[in-house]
Amino acid sequence: MSDCLFCKIIAGEIPSEKVYEDDHVYAFKDITPVAPLHMLIIPKKHIATINDLESDDAETMGNLFLAAKKIAKHEGYDEAGYRTVMNCGEAAGQTVFHVHLHLLAGRDLSWPPG
Ligand code: AMP
Ligand code: ZN
Repeated sequence: MSDCLFCKIIAGEIPSEKVYEDDHVYAFKDITPVAPLHMLIIPKKHIATINDLESDDAETMGNLFLAAKKIAKHEGYDEAGYRTVMNCGEAAGQTVFHVHLHLLAGRDLSWPPG
């Protein structure tokens, strides 16, 4: 989508600190980290929100979690633990409408989240 921030990041039109990429997924450092490790993992396909998912997207979404696992292991947080979060809609705090999995680690993460 031409006016989507994360589609522009995937296309290289807006800079990002890439940490992982494969055929289906792109991952980069969050510009405003809320934990020592804060990555965003996004599908290369534009999907605005979880509400827009179709059954064909199941593998794409699974690939986000496989990337999260790889990144967490590579960064050394697989044993200590980490959190993945995907906000859906404004009430949940979604501000960029291209689905993204937050990967957070490196500090104690309280529960329930705010
Ligand atoms: P959400 O609030 O769940 O939609 O998350 C959007 C995330 O995108 C926030 O954590 C922002 O800090 C992050 N973000 C916004 N613009 C950029 C950017 N240009 N590069 C990296 N992360 C960004
Ligand atoms: Zn997009």
